[in-house]
Amino acid sequence: MNILEIHHLSLALPVKKGMVTILHDVNLTAKEGEIVGLVGESGSGKSMTAFAVTRLLPGGGRERIAGSIKLLGEELLGKSEKEMETLRGRDVSMIFQEPMTCLNPVFTIARQMEDVIRAHAKVSREEARKQALSMLEAVHIRNPADVLSCYPYELSGGMRQRVMIGIALSCHPKLLIADEPTTALDVTVQAQILYLIKEACQNTGTAVLFISHDLGVISEICDQVSVMYSGHIVETGRTADVLQHPLHPYTKALLSAVPIPRLDVRKERILLEGDVPSPVNPAPGCRFAGRCASCMEICRKEQPELREVEPGHFAACHLIEQ
Ligand code: SF4
Repeated sequence: MNILEIHHLSLALPVKKGMVTILHDVNLTAKEGEIVGLVGESGSGKSMTAFAVTRLLPGGGRERIAGSIKLLGEELLGKSEKEMETLRGRDVSMIFQEPMTCLNPVFTIARQMEDVIRAHAKVSREEARKQALSMLEAVHIRNPADVLSCYPYELSGGMRQRVMIGIALSCHPKLLIADEPTTALDVTVQAQILYLIKEACQNTGTAVLFISHDLGVISEICDQVSVMYSGHIVETGRTADVLQHPLHPYTKALLSAVPIPRLDVRKERILLEGDVPSPVNPAPGCRFAGRCASCMEICRKEQPELREVEPGHFAACHLIEQ
């Protein structure tokens, strides 16, 4: 069953001199119990895709959004802010890179978890406390009763992220959006958090949209992956297909940047000069042209379309077409 379906999503945000389009024709599906990765550099549009789903956009209500975003078959784009407020936390939850930015420093963990649970279910504070306790147990926190009485600053980064996952899952959402949830953590804690997200997904059937700039992390956890560049999906497919047989030059460059955990093995690196181009006044043609070693004349004139190159494996590149 499809939990999330995004079709032909485009998003424009207001800037000083008008509007600038930052997402172009984004298509994405996440099924029940599936982890779908969105990968790309900063500025590629990954987080904006997530914010478009939750409608937590930075446009102050002036953003222009077109296409379709369906959650369990129900269109979200026509919903009012009040309706979206009800959906957030109950049907869609988000976890972020740095939990301290989401946890309130002046309230205990218990108070914050109880408030979330009681915002979406008619239960007493005692019942909410019980549910919070079992949620902390579910995310493998030792001494959960003690942790409930702590303030966020009393916990380590890994513990805070576990608490955030517990809060995000406390209302049993259909969709969990994880925006770089392990970037601020040590690698050992990172592995534990990835395991937790995978476990939660398998146990509850929650679909996960997992955002990362790290293909190593994506390979650990995701069933499907979409590679984003400058607001476009440039390659998408099953994670094994995309990572073992990358088609797009940008995916190949991202893969070459993943470190090999052996000091005696060297691999060829593709050095990507420059940054993701600004979305303001974009040049015609492929957005990656300015950084692509394989760039051809046609690339500077025509935007390549996303095409199915192998069954279930899509890429947008003129080189592949030729
Ligand atoms: Fe490179 Fe051209 Fe392919 Fe763009 S379309 S990635 S510039 S080869």
